[in-house]
Amino acid sequence: IYTNLIKLEDDPNKTIGLVAIIEDVTEIRKLEKMRSDFVANVSHELRTPLTSISGFVETLKSGAIDDEKTKMRFLDIIEIETERLRRLIDDILTLSEIENTKRSQKQDFNTTELIAEVEQIIMPIATNKNVEVVSEIEQGLPMITGNPDWFKQMLINLMDNAIKYTPEGGLVNLSAYSKYNKIIISVKDTGIGIPKQDIPRLFERFYRIDKARTRKIGGTGLGLAIVKHIALSFNATIKVNSDLGKGTEFIIIIPTKA
Ligand code: ADP
Repeated sequence: IYTNLIKLEDDPNKTIGLVAIIEDVTEIRKLEKMRSDFVANVSHELRTPLTSISGFVETLKSGAIDDEKTKMRFLDIIEIETERLRRLIDDILTLSEIENTKRSQKQDFNTTELIAEVEQIIMPIATNKNVEVVSEIEQGLPMITGNPDWFKQMLINLMDNAIKYTPEGGLVNLSAYSKYNKIIISVKDTGIGIPKQDIPRLFERFYRIDKARTRKIGGTGLGLAIVKHIALSFNATIKVNSDLGKGTEFIIIIPTKA
C-alpha cells in the first residue's frame, strides 16, 4: 500500500488541510518487477551468443583463419550461434505480439484442417530425428474462434518440444477430439519427462529445467510461454502429465461455440 500525503495551502506558512491518497501498488510493483526481470533476462540471453560470435571472429582474425580445419569449426559455431540469436529474436517478437494484441483479428476456422497443416510442418523435423509421429484427429471437429496462425504456433511449439525432448526411435502421439462443446488436443511423447517440482514453472519465460542441456538442444526457453499466452487468447486450459524418464503429455482444452 502506497500512501501519499499532499498538503493543501494557500499561504505557504499555513496549512489548511491534508489529502491522503492511498492506492494499492503491490500489483503495479509486481508487474514492473516482471518487466524489468524480463528485460534483464532478454539482455543476458542475447548477449551469450553475441559474445561467442565476436570471440570466434576475433580468434579467426588473429590467425586461426589460416588453418582450414579450425576455420571451418569456428565458422560452424558462428553459424549455430547466429541461428540461435535469430530464433531468440523471433520468439521475443512473437511473445510480445501475442501479449500486446489483446484483440487480434479473430475468425472462425476449421480446426481439423489446421491440425493437418501442423502435421505437415512437423513431419520433416520428426523424420530427421527418427521420431515417429502417430496422429488421431477426429474428422469434422467444431470450428474455433481466434487467430488461426496463433493456434498453429501453439501446436507447433508443443510438437517441436515433444520431438526435441524424445530420444531417437521414440514416439509422439498427436490426438484431437471434441466433447461437450470442447476440443481436447493432446501431444504425448515417450521422452525424458519433467520432474514434478518443475511443472508449475514450465510456462515462465526462459524457464528451462536443465540450462546446459536445453541450450545444446537449441531451445530459447520461450516456447511454452508463447503456448500459455496463445492458450489464454482461446480461453483454453492446459494440463501437463509427466513421468520422469518415460514421457510427457500436454493437453489443451479449448471451448468451442455452443
Ligand atoms: P525450450 O525452448 O528450452 O524448449 P520451452 O519454454 O519450450 O523452452 O520449454 C521449457 C522447458 O520445459 C524446456 O527447457 C524443457 O526442459 C521442458 N520441456 C518442455 N517440453 C518438454 C517435453 N515434451 N518433455 C520434456 N521436457 C520438456
